[in-house]
Amino acid sequence: MNMHARNIPVQKSAAEEFLDQLFDAGILFDTGVDGLYGRSGTFENVIKAFDNLVTKFGGDDNATPIHFPPGIARRLFEKSGYMKSFPQLAGTVHSFMGGESDHCTLLAELEAGSDWTSQQAATEVVLTPAACYPLYPTVAKRGPLPAGGRLYDLQSYCFRHEPSKDPARMQMFRMREFVRIGSPEQVRAFRESWLERGQEMMASLGVPLTVDVANDPFFGRAGKMMANNQRDTGLKFELLIPVTSEEKPTACLSFNYHQNHFGSLWDIRTSDGEEAHTACVGFGMERVALALFKHHGPDIDAWPKAVRDILWG
Ligand code: ATP
Ligand code: ZN
Repeated sequence: MNMHARNIPVQKSAAEEFLDQLFDAGILFDTGVDGLYGRSGTFENVIKAFDNLVTKFGGDDNATPIHFPPGIARRLFEKSGYMKSFPQLAGTVHSFMGGESDHCTLLAELEAGSDWTSQQAATEVVLTPAACYPLYPTVAKRGPLPAGGRLYDLQSYCFRHEPSKDPARMQMFRMREFVRIGSPEQVRAFRESWLERGQEMMASLGVPLTVDVANDPFFGRAGKMMANNQRDTGLKFELLIPVTSEEKPTACLSFNYHQNHFGSLWDIRTSDGEEAHTACVGFGMERVALALFKHHGPDIDAWPKAVRDILWG
């Protein structure tokens, strides 16, 4: 009997095929880890142009820009409640903090190819899971909001441990976010206006899109109830564009209304002393770039003139 395994051809998913195309075209570069890619100059040009387009659409709102580094203080992260909702996505930064004999053990473990990470201890830094997480404690520190509330324009690399062959599901990616903090009316008006603007902006780029209610991937059985509640109350909407699947289009923009969740958690107060409400609109920079490459092709010089004019005109 032939004991050799038969050569069964592995069926690649559409997502994986698109990833291969991106590697072959030199748009993304393989690093050996799913969801961690090098980006070409062309890819970055698209991101920059889209970033400028977002500024054009949101620029008159006078948002305060803040660029946080891609790490958040562990102390603040702990208080944020992220581990209750998304323990499966979080990434913590660990470092070697031992002495010389620990170092010897570490080197021996490395040499032996065994698990050397037991020598690592948690630092005071956690990788930022969403651009707005470091903002709320920063705002809380400034005291009560002015009567008009506040509006911020954030950008950060984010980390989520969701390794995947889908190029649109990265582990490290950039998120730009506008975050509105104020009364329920101010915050809801902001989200409504971006639901309109987001669709207008993306339609101008010649990509097919839909908007739908959504939920975050809350962990566990209790999380399922939170997810259902989020959907039923329409707290999260996504602007979806087919990137690797027609049936399951990719969330490229998100519109989230947190009600008083962060206001209560961080004790952010309006000028009337009420708990502030918050909402954010998030732009997945890589996902938008990938949607453009998907629909207009790998060669940006061959993209429709109308799209090129919007991005680089
Ligand atoms: P999904 O449902 O596809 O997992 P999400 O609900 O987790 O998306 P948000 O948490 O709302 O997304 O994040 C804001 C934006 O960041 C999303 O609209 C998306 O464009 C982008 N984003 C989220 N996760 C990823 C990822 N793994 N890789 C690339 N971009 C992402
Ligand atoms: Zn996600």
